[in-house]
Amino acid sequence: SQPDSLGPGIPVALTIAGSDSGGGAGIQADLKTFQELAVFGTSALTAVTAQNTKGVHGVHPIPAESVTGQIDAVAEDLFPAAVKTGMLFSAEIIEAVAERAAHYGWQNLVVDPVMIAKGGARLLQTEAIQALTARLLPLASVVTPNIPEAEALTGRTIATMSERKEAARHIHSWGVRHVVLKGGHAGNTAQAIDLLYDGSGFTEFAAPWVDTRHTHGTGCTFAAALTAGLARGMRLDEALLLAKRFIQSALTDPLEIGSGHGPTNHWG
Ligand code: PLP
Repeated sequence: SQPDSLGPGIPVALTIAGSDSGGGAGIQADLKTFQELAVFGTSALTAVTAQNTKGVHGVHPIPAESVTGQIDAVAEDLFPAAVKTGMLFSAEIIEAVAERAAHYGWQNLVVDPVMIAKGGARLLQTEAIQALTARLLPLASVVTPNIPEAEALTGRTIATMSERKEAARHIHSWGVRHVVLKGGHAGNTAQAIDLLYDGSGFTEFAAPWVDTRHTHGTGCTFAAALTAGLARGMRLDEALLLAKRFIQSALTDPLEIGSGHGPTNHWG
């Protein structure tokens, strides 16, 4: 039977994602964020990237049956209260993750639809987008696209706020319970406005825009903080506020590491 992981013990979260050898994004960002937010982090590795703050130099996917094996090993012993997916790379890995998500009936599944790294490297094969929308999103409690990811998912350009809402509705129609369309990639704004759509209404989460080169791993860190909040038993809106504050503080107080676009500070 399942131990009381939300009782006197520490809540457990699972990240299913890729490794960033540079430590700023992917599994490394997720585990650091979980730790920072007092959640015990576990992981299932989907791919190994050779990467630093300057970019992705190589991608080596893990066989899908090994991803399944890692998920089972964690799920059958550590009973994660919330699960996050990041870089999934291929349709085959997405199918394997979706099959396990359905098997375990995960109630807190956060899907960060990671597609392309800031330097342009593909972290999700183009032909895998269909598997993501058809197989994984119907099982997810929340999906966290940024604007370019929402454009890739819906096949439409997004310039105005009404186009953002249109895209959120479109993504919601694939069966995901909540869409968080992040506004950090919209240029020329005083505020970064994240839009939450729950199928009936929109809620805006705004914060001042931060102009910094230290943006590597922001998407991973935001979704990991959201997952940590859910693992701790927060409502989605509370967990979103936690994630928004966490990423804001990280962006405004960056670490001076690496000569590229720098990691997000996890000690904000
Ligand atoms: N590498 C891995 C393994 C990731 O999961 C992600 C997440 O989006 C990235 C790189 C992207 O990094 P960046 O924030 O620099 O685009």
